[in-house]
This record gives sequence, structure tokens and C-alpha cells, in this order.
Amino acid sequence: MIKMQNLSKSYFTEDLETTPLKSLNFNIEAGDFVAVMGPSGCGKSTLLNIVGLLDIPTDGSYEFLSEEMSNKQQSQLSKIRKQNIGFIFQSFNLIDELTVYENIELPLLYRGEAADQRKLKVTQILEKMGIAHRASHYPKQLSGGQQQRVAVCRALITEPSLILADEPTGNLDSASGEEVMNTLVELNKQGCTIMMVTHSDEHAKYASRIVRMLDGQFVSDEADLQSKIA
Ligand code: ADP
Ligand code: ADP
Repeated sequence: MIKMQNLSKSYFTEDLETTPLKSLNFNIEAGDFVAVMGPSGCGKSTLLNIVGLLDIPTDGSYEFLSEEMSNKQQSQLSKIRKQNIGFIFQSFNLIDELTVYENIELPLLYRGEAADQRKLKVTQILEKMGIAHRASHYPKQLSGGQQQRVAVCRALITEPSLILADEPTGNLDSASGEEVMNTLVELNKQGCTIMMVTHSDEHAKYASRIVRMLDGQFVSDEADLQSKIA
């Protein structure tokens, strides 16, 4: 699904150059559940931004679904992103002025889906995730765990093939964090590819593969964790 070759990313601010990603070679197969770990500043968010087509590499190749992305226009990237990728963030990133229902509906509106289709899909996912009774509430009226459940619904509503999660449990108590991890495992079983940044060793264990970064490079890559445990 994802193939990086000699991928580098640099930022230039005034006379200072920072290179948070240094000549990465990295693949993700469809169906992988990858946890990305590493100290603050090692390049995890930059990596997620490039994988999620929010940014482009300075150098090297990034193929997503067998297509080269590094030379595409913003508008093309945005279209591919909306069709294929769902995001989950540490801070939930819900819109406070919109209800739970409206927050979840938003990606479908952006995609120009018809009203009856939107209603059907939002209603179904609210039921499935057990928050239908919260549909007309606003994010601030919910607990952190419930807000993240809404954010997961919003990420899933477009049926993305790839979910990118940036410390999805970082702001949650341990019970809510575990619940989010179980949801991710369930989605992965249903065929969704997942890449998740986490600082939690415990939550990384839910993944089938753990990669560790240091100073813009991968320093380890352990796969088949589930079967090793089993
Ligand atoms: P992590 O997510 O692992 O904490 P980041 O990817 O956020 O690391 O950052 C890696 C490095 O890149 C840091 O040194 C950071 O300051 C730098 N960096 C990230 N984004 C930018 C930017 N937009 N402009 C300049 N430097 C940046
Ligand atoms: P969760 O199981 O989703 O983590 P909590 O255990 O944190 O939820 O919350 C317990 C109950 O208190 C929930 O029913 C939640 O909706 C409610 N609650 C938490 N915070 C608020 C709030 N700010 N306003 C209204 N209800 C709240």
C-alpha cells in the first residue's frame, strides 16, 4: 500500500535547515497495523503528514496505492486523501460548534454525498459505535473517551483503506484508551490498514508491527507481534 524510497524531508527556516526524515526506505502492506514509536522530535508527525498526503517529501519517492505522490499537486493529493485516508488525533479535533452528528457527517459533505446517503451512513455508524444517544450533543458535553469515539466515527465514515492515528490515546484515561485500541484492532481485522504513533509501550502491543525512530531514521522494525505472542 505504501512504499518509500530514499525519502527525505527538510524544512528551511531563514538560514536553518532541519531534516526530520533522512533517506527512509519503508513499506506498509495492506492489512498491516503499524505502531510508530520514538522520542519527541524524532520525526514521527512529519512521517505521518507525508504518509497522509498532508505534506510532500523534499527528496525521494513516496508511492501510495502504487502511484507516485511526490510530484502531485495539492488538489490531487487532497482528492486522494479524502477518498482513502482517515485521521485520528490526540486532541480529537472535533468542531465544538457542531453536534456529534454534524461532526461525523462533515467528511461526507466535503465529498459531496447526497443527503439521504449521508443520513443513512451517519445513523449506522452512530449505532455501531454505541453513541446514537449522543447524536445531538456537542463535543464539550462528552467525556474524553466519548469524544475520541466520535472522532473515530468521523475517520471511518468514508470507509478509508488507511487510518492514521497520532497518539490517539494520549489524552485518555486507561479504560478509554484501551477501548480505542480495541476499536482499532477490530477495524484492522476488518481489513483497514493502520499506522499509529504512540508513546505507550502497552498500546503499541496492540499493533502487528512496531517501528522505532531516532533522529529521522528507523532504528528497528518488529513484525508479526501478534503471532509471536500467540
Ligand atoms: P515528533 O512527531 O517525533 O515529535 P516531528 O516530526 O514533529 O517529531 O518533528 C521533527 C523535527 O522537525 C523537529 O526538529 C521539528 O522541530 C522539525 N519540524 C517539524 N515540522 C516543522 C516545520 N513545519 N518547520 C520547521 N521544522 C519543523
Ligand atoms: P467514557 O466511558 O466514555 O470514558 P466517562 O466514564 O468519562 O465516559 O464519563 C461518565 C459519564 O459522565 C458519561 O456518561 C459521560 O457522558 C458523562 N460526562 C462526562 N463528562 C461530561 C460533561 N462534561 N458533560 C456531561 N456529561 C459528561
